[in-house]
Amino acid sequence: MSVLEVTNLLKTYRGTTAVNGISFSLGKGEIVGLLGPNGAGKTTTIHMLLGITLHNGGSIRYFGQDFVTHREESLQRMNAASAFNTLQGRLTVRENLLVFAELYLLKNPKKKIDELLARFEMTEFAHTLYWSLSSGQRTRVNLIKSLLNDPEILLMDEPTASLDPDIADKTLSLVEELKRERELSILYTSHNMAEITRICDRVIFLDRGNIVAHDTPQNLTKRISTTTLRLTVADGGGGLRRYLEERKQSYTSVGDSVVEILTEESRIPEVLFGASHIGATITDIEIKKPTLEDVFLQIARTSV
Ligand code: ATP
Repeated sequence: MSVLEVTNLLKTYRGTTAVNGISFSLGKGEIVGLLGPNGAGKTTTIHMLLGITLHNGGSIRYFGQDFVTHREESLQRMNAASAFNTLQGRLTVRENLLVFAELYLLKNPKKKIDELLARFEMTEFAHTLYWSLSSGQRTRVNLIKSLLNDPEILLMDEPTASLDPDIADKTLSLVEELKRERELSILYTSHNMAEITRICDRVIFLDRGNIVAHDTPQNLTKRISTTTLRLTVADGGGGLRRYLEERKQSYTSVGDSVVEILTEESRIPEVLFGASHIGATITDIEIKKPTLEDVFLQIARTSV
């Protein structure tokens, strides 16, 4: 069942088309990644889904109801987190959270805030003024704010952008936990492909306002058939290079002792067998399969 249905969504700014009639859905308990190069239309899409920016065409339906006519109801059941939001600088962390708890009409705000502060390792900052927090600490407060009303849908716009690797990892684990335990549905934008591969069930690639690819991370990486075979050779690799040249196999040298070969995965045994046959002393073998990052680069560089 879809909790969000977007149909032909359009946004133009005086002649510029930021989002060009895109359609997609978000299922219950599903995490969908929204990717794309700078200016692709991700933030505009998230802003339209939050009602911050008005759309010029198409429709947004939450829980089967039109967002325009059921705005308040929809907003009560969702929330948003971004690395770039700012809360009130002259209020403490706890005061800021209490303001939102009031807006969301929470029955037991103090308990909920304490629980979330502990979960995000922010208890010691409860009485610190928001403006004196580091950017990563602010992001954590924004994440806490986004979970106060136990949302059914979470729109996350680069939520881990300013977090250190440890807190970013914990945030992702929490997202996975929320999905598992509460079937939370999440639309997630990020420039971090490893993160997207880890948590997203589906990925939507936007480019210049259009959806240019829409699939699971696994199927997207299968689009690239070549794999990089990286061989470290102890003897300078002259023999190996000559062998590859004779066979018209292109390669790249990385320093004196590393040779990188771009090849079909099925041809790797043949290359390794050949290298061993000519007596190359290989001390390390690394096989680098295509990643979502490679897909991203391919799409961003080839789409028009
Ligand atoms: P980034 O990865 O850089 O955050 P994005 O995918 O979020 O990019 P958007 O911010 O949605 O991209 O911008 C999409 C397009 O809409 C861009 O061409 C941008 O210049 C344009 N745009 C966004 N906001 C406005 C605005 N308020 N007025 C005019 N044009 C705008």
